Amino acid sequence: QALVDLVTSRLRDIPDFPEPGVVFKDVTPLLADGEAFSAVVRDMAERRRGTVDLVAGIEARGFIFGAAVAHELGIGFVPVRKAGKLPGRTRGVSYDLEYGSATIEIHEDSFVGGERVLVVDDVLATGGTAAATCELLEGSNATVVAFEALIELAFLHGRDRLPGRDVHTTIVVG
Ligand code: 5GP
Repeated sequence: QALVDLVTSRLRDIPDFPEPGVVFKDVTPLLADGEAFSAVVRDMAERRRGTVDLVAGIEARGFIFGAAVAHELGIGFVPVRKAGKLPGRTRGVSYDLEYGSATIEIHEDSFVGGERVLVVDDVLATGGTAAATCELLEGSNATVVAFEALIELAFLHGRDRLPGRDVHTTIVVG
């Protein structure tokens, strides 16, 4: 509960971002607070210590939390990027957004096969991004063992898109 209170106190709601009617959860105050950032990263890392070989972080804020968790565990990090950003040969998956679609990519040689991967992002909203990431990684011979996010927007039911998966979120909103 102390962690939940600390995290909650370091988040900020930004109305009408990125579009009218959406209230965006801004994590930058938490990132700027060394105690809060470090507590979140340690909590995610300790829950997964010894059970994962790699961390995959989802662009962009999943890079920040995911890379820190990987460092804490002394394991490697794989960036899951928006289309067109990775320099090498890639493998991608497209998924539907509320309006339109998005594509995420990894390098096609990110995994040799059988690596146990922890997927990290800042926010679990509709779950579309997380589900697409799991599909992409598992189609590339990795095993997704868990998903960690700082914030879960429960009213969007993102968990329903990740059936049977080990999903943990630090705070649940709504
Ligand atoms: P989903 O695919 O679950 O609908 O959306 C999750 C993705 O969108 C995550 O990568 C997350 O970074 C971003 N996202 C959606 N809503 C928010 C929000 O309110 N705050 C932040 N920081 N990211 C969000």
